Amino acid sequence: MTGTLVVGAGQAGVQLAVSLRESGDTMPITLMGAEPQLPYQRPPLSKGYLSGDTDADRLALRTAAFYADRGIELVTGERITALDTGRAVTDRGREIAFDRLGLTVGARVRRLRVPGAALDGVHHLRDLADADRLRTALAGTRPVVVVGGGFIGLEAASVARAHGRPVTVVEATDRLLGRAVAPVVSAFYAGAHARRGVRVLLDTGVTALDGTAGRVRSVHLTDGGELPAALVLVGIGVEPRTELATGLGLACPGGIPVDLDARTALPSVVAAGDCTLQPHPTGGGHAPVRVESVQNAVHQATVAATTLAGVARPTPEVPWFWSDQADLKLQIAGLAAGADEIVVRGDPAAERFAALHYRDGRLQAVDAVNSPADFLVVRRALATGTELPASAARRTDRPLKELLVA
Ligand SMILES: Cc1cc2nc3c(=O)[nH]c(=O)nc-3n(C[C@H](O)[C@H](O)[C@H](O)COP(=O)(O)OP(=O)(O)OC[C@H]3O[C@@H](n4cnc5c(N)ncnc54)[C@H](O)[C@@H]3O)c2cc1C
Repeated sequence: MTGTLVVGAGQAGVQLAVSLRESGDTMPITLMGAEPQLPYQRPPLSKGYLSGDTDADRLALRTAAFYADRGIELVTGERITALDTGRAVTDRGREIAFDRLGLTVGARVRRLRVPGAALDGVHHLRDLADADRLRTALAGTRPVVVVGGGFIGLEAASVARAHGRPVTVVEATDRLLGRAVAPVVSAFYAGAHARRGVRVLLDTGVTALDGTAGRVRSVHLTDGGELPAALVLVGIGVEPRTELATGLGLACPGGIPVDLDARTALPSVVAAGDCTLQPHPTGGGHAPVRVESVQNAVHQATVAATTLAGVARPTPEVPWFWSDQADLKLQIAGLAAGADEIVVRGDPAAERFAALHYRDGRLQAVDAVNSPADFLVVRRALATGTELPASAARRTDRPLKELLVA
């Protein structure tokens, strides 16, 4: 009896190991993590941890005793460098035999490919070590340039601004958070950050970073402009780690392909979390998607565990996500895919509203800003298949929950 090897001890890897035990699986489990710390939560790295409100010891997902009590052998600070059928090799030269494999290797940050991108003072934010470096640098540095108007860049920009730093966000497309939210929400965030003193440049790319004595000093822009910069945070997305899967012979076109059971094309090999490419949750002919969220990592890993253990799969979940920027809490439920109608409830000017996405008259998703009740109503409606027609949602004189069609 050799057991299960889970490669990657992040949110998905931990959940896979724990859910295997909860499924009644008694085979040995090895959970391998390349990072030295106990597995931890990443969301606070661009929020409370970066701002100094949360300590490192509050980030851990579980205590060391938790894993030991469940017979999960947690190995930290050791990376799997090669995989073969039934055998793995680590960067310390250790060999590990397995008969079932979970790939929960996550993603790595995408890097700027311009001259000067490797200068000192240029930061990325994916793991705790990155957050520590950024937190230290933020304490003394000004001005700050954030490249990329996505969630992580905007959350970090809010923290830097709250610390009194001059901050400019440079976004190559015509709107913030463009991949995730409705245009009205993008426009709202551009205004909200500007009101808090963050300069937002849209439709603007970066052509080069300039430095003095190896340290970044300025950022050159596609419009010919130049921004002074003592600290640059690059937040332009992530790339799934697919090299181990590719080495096993799996074709990985932008993620490790899995089915609804989190199964790869190889027997006894599952994958979960940021590294996967999965069927679109709404089906309907949409292309497979990568979903980067805690909810997805946890749910997909739970599904993967039931697949390995041969027990019933849990019911599908509605994807959901959150982002904290300054005092603005954004909550998203559902995956918007090509909405043809957006219904706005509440008042963007009062920084409290929700944008409901519709396609062919069917509710798809909600982006709720400081509106937790609307978020919950839509999340529940999507989960239960309850209808919430656009014509009803437009009745802004009535609470959303009263407009559900039984
Ligand atoms: C700064 C930040 C803020 C975020 N905020 C939010 C948020 O507000 N809400 C939300 O829903 N999501 C948020 N996310 C996204 C969320 O954290 C991820 O979707 C989630 O962590 C994915 O979990 P994962 O286990 O798939 O991958 P990861 O958390 O990346 O874990 C993968 C682990 O595998 C390890 N690994 C990789 N290769 C190997 C190997 N060969 N051998 C051993 N170990 C290996 C890595 O070192 C890593 O520790 C945020 C992410 C970041 C970085």
